[in-house]
Amino acid sequence: MTVWALLDDELAHWADSGRTATLWWRDDDAVAATAALDRLLAMRAAYDLGLALAVVPATMDASLAARLQDEPASVAVLQHGYAHQNHAAAGEKSVELGPHRPAPVVIGELGTGLMALSQTFGARFLPVMVPPWNRIAPALVPVLPEIGFRALSTYTARTRVEPVRGLLQVNTHVGPIGWRPRRGFLGDEQIITTLVDALRARRDAAATSPVADEPTGMLTHHLVHDEDIWTFLDRLWNRLRAHPAVRIVQPAAIFGS
Ligand SMILES: [Zn+2]
Repeated sequence: MTVWALLDDELAHWADSGRTATLWWRDDDAVAATAALDRLLAMRAAYDLGLALAVVPATMDASLAARLQDEPASVAVLQHGYAHQNHAAAGEKSVELGPHRPAPVVIGELGTGLMALSQTFGARFLPVMVPPWNRIAPALVPVLPEIGFRALSTYTARTRVEPVRGLLQVNTHVGPIGWRPRRGFLGDEQIITTLVDALRARRDAAATSPVADEPTGMLTHHLVHDEDIWTFLDRLWNRLRAHPAVRIVQPAAIFGS
């Protein structure tokens, strides 16, 4: 059985039990209009998918807003930290929103970024915090709803629906890129296996657990996709989009508009 057949098999279980596997798509690190962004938006349009772009407010360029101006509302903007700067100590994992700086400094930056994105993108911007490197110090999380964030999105299955009152968490679970030891396409087998495992874990638990009943998130990084990654994504969306047991959910439907 090929790994793609394993995906079909898993989705057949969803169909048999009359359930719909919801998925969503987050792409990180957008700051400017580029050829890679054009390609991403063309793929989204080809399959009429929702797409959440996590934008870095401190380094975004006016060309990004101009490029998105005529895109439909299904292309949403989320906030990707503030400057995507690593403040970790040597030897630690990269983190911007860590415990290394005073919380008021970090929170001040996030509030500045929130205002900038809101002014630049209007209703397209959803106040959702996507921490760079998917890491955020636990002490910062309770402050997010206080300064206007409605949701948090990191990587791997969430452990709570609302980590603090008024803050929804909806994560991503699978992506096509490996980062270490060398950045590149992970290959069909590894990616689809991760996707199938995420769907199966969710199918097993979702009936009894609202925590597990989380839309499965695909995480991409358009600026570093090679041809293998684009080809894989095209194949995946083509397959998922047509499947009767799958629904690819708009960002606004997940996070509120
Ligand atoms: Zn990033």
